Amino acid sequence: MPADLFTDPDARPYAVLVPLPLSGPLDYLSAEPLVPGDFVAVTVSGRETVGVVWGEGTGDVEKLKPVLRKLDLPPMPEAMRGLVDRAARYTLTPPGMMLRQATRAPGLLEAEKPRIVLMRGAGEPETMTDARRRVLDAVAASPGLSAADLAREAGVSGGVVKGLLEAGALESHAAPQDRPPPGLDPGYRIPKLNAEQSEASEAITESIATRKFEALLLDGVTGSGKTETYLEAVAACIAAGRQALILLPEIALTADFIRRVRERFGAPPVEWHSGVTPAARRRAWKAVARGQAQVVAGARSALFLPFSDLALIVVDEEHDQSYKQDDIVPYQARDIAVLRAAQEGCTAVLASATPSLESWINAETGKYRRLTLRERHGPAVLPFLSAIDLRADPPEKGSWLSPELVGATRDVNARGEQALFFLNRRGYAPLTICRKCGWRAGCDQCSAWLVEHRGRGALLCHQCGWREPFPQKCPECGTEDSLAACGPGVERIAEEARERFPLARVEILSSDQTPDPKVLQDQIKSIADGGADIIVGTQIVAKGHNFPLLTLVGVVDADLGLAGGDLRAAERTFQLLNQVAGRAGRAEKPGRAMLQTTMPDHPVLRAILDGDAQRFRTRLSEERQQARMPPYTRLIAVIVQGEDEEKVWQVSRALAAAGSILTDAGIDIFGPAPAPYAMLRNKHRVRMLLRMARRIDHPRLVPAWRDAVKVPSGVRVIFDVDPYSFL
Ligand code: ADP
Ligand code: ZN
Ligand code: ZN
Repeated sequence: MPADLFTDPDARPYAVLVPLPLSGPLDYLSAEPLVPGDFVAVTVSGRETVGVVWGEGTGDVEKLKPVLRKLDLPPMPEAMRGLVDRAARYTLTPPGMMLRQATRAPGLLEAEKPRIVLMRGAGEPETMTDARRRVLDAVAASPGLSAADLAREAGVSGGVVKGLLEAGALESHAAPQDRPPPGLDPGYRIPKLNAEQSEASEAITESIATRKFEALLLDGVTGSGKTETYLEAVAACIAAGRQALILLPEIALTADFIRRVRERFGAPPVEWHSGVTPAARRRAWKAVARGQAQVVAGARSALFLPFSDLALIVVDEEHDQSYKQDDIVPYQARDIAVLRAAQEGCTAVLASATPSLESWINAETGKYRRLTLRERHGPAVLPFLSAIDLRADPPEKGSWLSPELVGATRDVNARGEQALFFLNRRGYAPLTICRKCGWRAGCDQCSAWLVEHRGRGALLCHQCGWREPFPQKCPECGTEDSLAACGPGVERIAEEARERFPLARVEILSSDQTPDPKVLQDQIKSIADGGADIIVGTQIVAKGHNFPLLTLVGVVDADLGLAGGDLRAAERTFQLLNQVAGRAGRAEKPGRAMLQTTMPDHPVLRAILDGDAQRFRTRLSEERQQARMPPYTRLIAVIVQGEDEEKVWQVSRALAAAGSILTDAGIDIFGPAPAPYAMLRNKHRVRMLLRMARRIDHPRLVPAWRDAVKVPSGVRVIFDVDPYSFL
């Protein structure tokens, strides 16, 4: 710190937001003039951290700590700062935690180390050897390589390159640390869109050209060419020199998607997701900030990248659950995407074959413009859907596949085609009990049953990750071989498939069987190429993969999710089944989907079987409206948690007692009550639920309510605005 900073007449206080859970920006002193958006280095509790100037400071100059330095990064644009503030306010999260989403790249604090690259110099070597000639040829062909890369390229040792440098035949130059990402060519391979595809893509392109905020719902059956369509709008962004962001629900989807971008534009997009290395994250972040990244494909956190000229945000599979994750900062990426587009004054496209009820209603009311693709592209036709009534055609005792499904599987396999058994349950069995004494295997830290994973010989808690070896005898009564598996998971269905079809190649496709996304990609590719006859899969099979040989989908338990008390269970089941059914027969072969159920007359199943999405959603929206549930109202889940059960209840009761702050404004309070998972990772959890009209200013009222109660250390009050999980 300059010693005279406090007496420097130019030193002024600035409000700096840091990526930490504080209630607002902190004040720092700087003699160098700063403007809002400037990235700076500051210390917080003795640690150096990146910060962003948020405005003028007010603090007492004498007491302030200095801004260490201004960082050499493009300033955060106003639209982005507005997004951080508004998203933090809406989600009841400290703004610093939102900023953290926006600074999740390593190396922002460090000055860039230039890269030393070699070019041809004016000098000539005294003697020309074969090796030297190869180096000079290589540098002529590709100038700007590092010494090591040039030596490798020419197939010579480092000494040869060094000799040429000394002779002046090569010169070293300092280049920026990171090369810009490869350029994308909007004219590389232009597809022929069909009539409804071009109409939709023109609508998006025109919307982009207005440079005004608009949200569009691209509603089209699986395989109708939604991706094909929005990629043409992306092409228009590239051609206009602007940036596009495409959000995808899962890493498993990206490899296939990257390939399509490459085929369309001749180069891959910039990737942003948890599988990207730290160095690539740093490069990506800076390339986005500098406007060099034309197209970014990423997971939901890509929404917080510092785009300099964002023209289009696409949320693909917009209904997907993974857009709402209950992280440290719970937010719904679809909503943030629309918010960001509003801040930027650009276009948001939400694409899905089964739009969320929220988006569907927004399209009905005209808040979003609807673009519809009715036809599948090419010869693919929607699969024939039918229900198998498990009451009339039950599987044999101790098995899960009904005779009808088994017969159909035999038929398709005999034709060299594939069958998929879908069950959204990982592991072998969801519950293990002792036949002798009735003991059930549960997690000590959570109120959850342990799931048997037979392949690993272990019992796992799917809530906290606890893992223990499968016991040899009952831990309660000591009886050997008394433990029985209850209910099926995918491993158990695969076991049954292997027994019934001994000649078939059976593959399990489940995210936890293959946690490495690369391995999973390879497995998916091998299956798509015909490397399996029967696939047993959890939900990941429902996302974007194309299996041309797959012509039969058997949904093992179509009742799962229909019976639960969860607000979105019916919707989720509808989406999942629709998508799973859409996996079958995407190529030339027509497919069929069979849904095993004990409730063939359930309205959700009927709507799926009839393919009547309109009727399904109309019913659902009427139900929600009558029950005063979202999206007609807003819910906020409140979880009070801590290790000391008594303190947790004290805080909960105090919150309830202070409830008039909310109820006077017309907010309903439900609870407190023990959360469905009353224990999670050794923490006791008590739950409350707030329900309010959508016009109510929850960012003002809810924090005021919380602040009316003294929360002792060791207890946390957590808010989840628009919750999806009710556990
Ligand atoms: P969706 O995103 O709606 O599921 P896709 O864009 O993935 O649909 O299209 C499904 C398949 O049809 C893909 O293999 C895609 O390449 C192909 N396809 C769609 N539209 C066209 C088109 N106009 N020309 C050529 N192929 C197309
Ligand atoms: Zn026992
Ligand atoms: Zn647990």
